[in-house]
Amino acid sequence: MLGKKSSVSAKPMKMKIRKGDTVRVITGRDKSKEGEVLTVSPTKGKVTVHQINVAKKAVRPHPQKNPQGGIIEVPAMIDVSNVQLICPRCSKPTHVVFKKDAEGRTSRKCKKCGELIDG
Ligand SMILES: [Zn+2]
Repeated sequence: MLGKKSSVSAKPMKMKIRKGDTVRVITGRDKSKEGEVLTVSPTKGKVTVHQINVAKKAVRPHPQKNPQGGIIEVPAMIDVSNVQLICPRCSKPTHVVFKKDAEGRTSRKCKKCGELIDG
């Protein structure tokens, strides 16, 4: 894995999912599980979610981080289209729409309850 260079030519996507969001998986082997978004990759259009799509990874012993070595579990990236945002306002799986405020900042708005999701 190390040293593998991905030639990222794709434009970063406008992500509807952000780090710290709670999402529900809508397809695949972790279907209907929920978790917190750990990382977001706008160029790949993918996210990692806590305890979702977990892959086992062998790690070498490391004096500080991991003296034992062995197998650790890390969440692998999943496509952002495979998850759905859980609205923090109405607690339902929802779609978001982007909304610009007076200062030109883009906020996300819940389609279900109409509330702004970000602040
Ligand atoms: Zn809502």
